[in-house]
Amino acid sequence: MIVVMKPGATQAEINAVIQRAEGLGVKTHPIYGDNRTVIALVGDLTRISREAFNAMDGVHETVRIQEPYKLSSRTAHPHDTIIEVMGVKIGGPEVVVMAGPCSVESRAQIIEAAIGVKEAGAKILRGGAFKPRTSPYSFQGLGVKGLEYLAEAREVTGLPIITEVTTVETLPIVAEYADILQIGARNMQNYGLLHAVGKVQRPVMLKRGMSGTVEELLMCAEYIVSNGNYNVMVCERGIRTYETSTRNTFDLNAVPVLKQRSHLPVVADPSHGTGYREYVPAMSRAAVAAGADALILEIHPDPDNAVSDGRQSLDLKEFADLMTSLRRIAAALDRSVAPAQPAPLATVAPAPLVKAIA
Ligand code: PEP
Ligand code: MN
Repeated sequence: MIVVMKPGATQAEINAVIQRAEGLGVKTHPIYGDNRTVIALVGDLTRISREAFNAMDGVHETVRIQEPYKLSSRTAHPHDTIIEVMGVKIGGPEVVVMAGPCSVESRAQIIEAAIGVKEAGAKILRGGAFKPRTSPYSFQGLGVKGLEYLAEAREVTGLPIITEVTTVETLPIVAEYADILQIGARNMQNYGLLHAVGKVQRPVMLKRGMSGTVEELLMCAEYIVSNGNYNVMVCERGIRTYETSTRNTFDLNAVPVLKQRSHLPVVADPSHGTGYREYVPAMSRAAVAAGADALILEIHPDPDNAVSDGRQSLDLKEFADLMTSLRRIAAALDRSVAPAQPAPLATVAPAPLVKAIA
């Protein structure tokens, strides 16, 4: 249930609602909006009388929430959530592009990628340091060294970084470096990890599991939000179907469905969604047209020699061209994609740093 306060309700009136609800054994999550405050009540509501709350000072109405993901639902929070990371706003009118390699491979590779994607207009740098790989014999990521290289790339470009956290044990170290924590498809329902990221104050991008429904994705987001971390975005990255001509089936239906059911920002990942670089531009444009708030794209300075996911990675020139067309799609929808930044960034990174190999 949510208690919708009147515009201008006082803090004392809000506190009275919270105290009454907590006195009846339920948890409260106040959401302070520009005009009014709503208070979500979660837990065992059997002792809660809607009439009693309706009669309290400052209360406009109470609303029953049907969805099982109460805090993530649009009913609880009609306005879009906007997540701010180092001045970048995800969930607002700008379609934010996150880009970078699947894996951090070396200092030179991540810095070259970071400079290239920034120049093309990306606002966030991606790169995996801890990699969840299907085979135990595949490259597992550079680990903490990879995080250090990402931090260097952030220093050179000013781009915030998103990187995956795969275990509860490595969460403290990953959270120390990352500006956004990525939970991968394989961990969507790792409830221990969801609990843990719910308790850290870092934005989280939760990817849809390869056999997860939209409802299950939102229930997993609810684990994070209900533990106190409201800065969650959800990501469509393709699901597994009988179709074999692409790596996954990129479920673009999920974008408007998620936007309708939830206030959380929606990210689309056409790289994993298709698995082939030749399909990535078309599906990136389609994702923007479908209403995605952000894209996450795998970009590599030398995709043919990437240690992971090279087949679905664009090179820097292909990425810059894609960004040009995305701007036109976004503009048609009264949104925007950041302009290219042909700043002399390459000279900001000292040459030895760019040339150094891990
Ligand atoms: C990735 O982003 O490189 C990744 C492993 O993605 P997913 O969890 O969607 O497979
Ligand atoms: Mn990848």
